[in-house]
Amino acid sequence: MLLAFGAPVAIAASGPGGAELPGQPLISSIACPLQPVGSCSAGQLMTVRGSNLQSAQQITFVGSSGSRDNVVVKLSARAAQPAAITVTVPRRARSGAVRISGTIGSAVTAPQPVKIVAGLPATDDASGSRKLIAGGKRAARFAYQMSSAAAVGARVEAVSGRTGKIVRSWPLVKSGDGAVAWDGFVGKEPAASGTYVLRLNELASASAKVEAGSDTQFELAEGFFPIRGPHKLSSTATQMFGGDRSHQGTDHFAACGTPLAAWTSGVVQFNSNQGAAGNYIVVQRANGESYAYMHMQGRSPAKVGTKVFAGQRLGRVSDSGRASGCHLHIELWTAPGWYKGGKPYDSLPLMKRLDKLN
Ligand SMILES: [Zn+2]
Repeated sequence: MLLAFGAPVAIAASGPGGAELPGQPLISSIACPLQPVGSCSAGQLMTVRGSNLQSAQQITFVGSSGSRDNVVVKLSARAAQPAAITVTVPRRARSGAVRISGTIGSAVTAPQPVKIVAGLPATDDASGSRKLIAGGKRAARFAYQMSSAAAVGARVEAVSGRTGKIVRSWPLVKSGDGAVAWDGFVGKEPAASGTYVLRLNELASASAKVEAGSDTQFELAEGFFPIRGPHKLSSTATQMFGGDRSHQGTDHFAACGTPLAAWTSGVVQFNSNQGAAGNYIVVQRANGESYAYMHMQGRSPAKVGTKVFAGQRLGRVSDSGRASGCHLHIELWTAPGWYKGGKPYDSLPLMKRLDKLN
């Protein structure tokens, strides 16, 4: 204790700064979920494994035509760990060398180039590339036949093609034919948009066989864009959330009569007409939140208390109530919902996401 103050601190000084230098960074492998080693597709989480990678500041996808097609990704401190760097493969990345820089010493190139492929490898039993919506009319269907008793832990898994994580799983039936229908939800929330794979886990593969035509790989959208025709997203201050008039929704313009669809599944909570809102509908989601569409043309055909699926027709764009020009006024409310104790929040980020999907 007495010696602690003023005593020189022992540092294994091996560099000019006096502090110990980490070893030279080294890349051993590059891998993406559900792909052969060295193959990746845009949007996937790519893992660069090696050692002494913690000080890396950027990754360069060198591509094949000199520096013209180089794509640089800056790394956050969290993305660069000593034994692994995790990065999302950018859209513009091309096959070629992968280089990390910003480390002690010069840049380091991976021993093998990365191969950028269009998507996940196809499976023999796939039903083709389907597009599904979480909470939509059609669920993903995965069928299998049992040839012997299932081992403990044998399951069907839904795997994210982006992260490689198992987002849901189901036990196998005891015998005979089994099937799984997945609505694209994880708990009470839609799974993130992207490619998903349904498969038998290793323990299940020995005792079950996938039925041809199963949805073994598909694109899942977290929801459906509500305006089913040409439209213009909120762009002016008065069309945005909040502001001077405490706008509780966002306004998106479209031709009068353009169909409106449920953006996600839920149960109809209100279907009514009010002076300011005009014809409106409120749908409560599985997670207790709710969403409202206003200024619709006539009353919605969807009855209070009934379930709606993502993509179900709820009405048409109009200017009923207090509205100047035909538009969808959409509100999102936190649980427990619209005028039931929830609070409105900005719907524009969701609208922008959905608009890119469908
Ligand atoms: Zn509005």
